[in-house]
Amino acid sequence: MDDAALPFRAEVESRGDDLVALTQDLIRIPTLNPPGRMYREICEMLAARLTARGWRCELLRATGAPGDSDRYPRWNLIARIEGAGPGPCVHFNGHHDVVEVGHGWTRDPFGAEIDMDHPGGRIFGRGACDMKGGIAAAVIAAEAFVALRPGFAGAVELSATADEESGGFGGVAWLAEQGRFSPDRVQHVIIPEPLHKDRICLGHRGVWWAEIETKGRIAHGSMPFLGDSAIRHMGAVLEEMETHLYPMLAARRTAMPVIPEGARASTLNVNSIHGGEAEPEPGYTGLPAPCVADRCRIVIDRRVLIEEAVEEVKAEMRALLDRVRARRPGFDYAIRDLFEVQPTMTDRDAPVVRATARAVARVLGAEAGFVVSPGTYDQKHIDRIGRLKNCIAYGPGVLDLAHQPDEWIGIADMIDSATVMALVLDDLLPGG
Ligand SMILES: [Zn+2]
Repeated sequence: MDDAALPFRAEVESRGDDLVALTQDLIRIPTLNPPGRMYREICEMLAARLTARGWRCELLRATGAPGDSDRYPRWNLIARIEGAGPGPCVHFNGHHDVVEVGHGWTRDPFGAEIDMDHPGGRIFGRGACDMKGGIAAAVIAAEAFVALRPGFAGAVELSATADEESGGFGGVAWLAEQGRFSPDRVQHVIIPEPLHKDRICLGHRGVWWAEIETKGRIAHGSMPFLGDSAIRHMGAVLEEMETHLYPMLAARRTAMPVIPEGARASTLNVNSIHGGEAEPEPGYTGLPAPCVADRCRIVIDRRVLIEEAVEEVKAEMRALLDRVRARRPGFDYAIRDLFEVQPTMTDRDAPVVRATARAVARVLGAEAGFVVSPGTYDQKHIDRIGRLKNCIAYGPGVLDLAHQPDEWIGIADMIDSATVMALVLDDLLPGG
């Protein structure tokens, strides 16, 4: 570590117990999404802490956003502290929602147990790495920076936002629509998602979800020639994908440094398939009825590279379906868009990227790696709605642990990345 970084390291380390306690407090509020529980409680807990330390806190409900209801209101927190003079605003954004617990846990998912037997120490719990540990590290980093540099210029913002796990529409998307991420208000954004303390995530691939339906005609299953099977038509679609589309997508390589390596190509997943008679209700003991399927539907998840345009990706799929139609009598289909996100990648020369790369090198003594996420996160809204390009994800934690049983965050990793974040503030907010 270089000498100039040492006071920041010491300041963050002196807050180590506080960092652990804050992470535990966050994990112990089970902000499960869906349906979106305890959002207000977690925002109030953070607001109470930050208000007592001189931050101006606003609790903002995304009224009317998808998922928002009186029973499960979508609450968000924005906390801001002004420096001694004018300057840019650096914003740390973390989502406070967590996914369901699932099976296979050996620890209490909301107990925030500490295990010091592992090197550096670990805190366990749902959301530990994705991303309550990241929120806690950003809070400690900001507090340490303000303590060390009380005369800094500009402003620091911290936000804890709803619903990232379900698309972010009641969180960052809504705040961006309110102008909270406009470039005249916020100049630099860091999202402390668990990308590992020595890596800077520049953005993510895009997405297109769609439902494809093949049509048929119902008839008695003993005389299928009197009907037309939508399932066989869908089989032809899947066969066409296997033979022509999958090899083409796998060969389409990207310049985006996506991790893991396997995601450095276009990918396609069929999320689900349903055809013919509906699944029987649980407890039904009878037999199915013999019918030719008059409908079959799949939901596809196509991940899009920065070299591709979502419109071209859609056209490619329609062309595939049209080819099948041209050679199969009776074939007809419908396609319905469900969701789409453009790929996004911040420039490596962007100020927040350079400042973070410098800070990583100073704290860890190694060059930062540049990565891109295979799936999307809230950067999409900051880019598309907020029109703010100077945004990265950088935070502690191991990405692979996200959404898994026995999820944990490393305490030493949180200290390291909080030191990096404090140095980024020192770099971007001169004065002091
Ligand atoms: Zn996350």
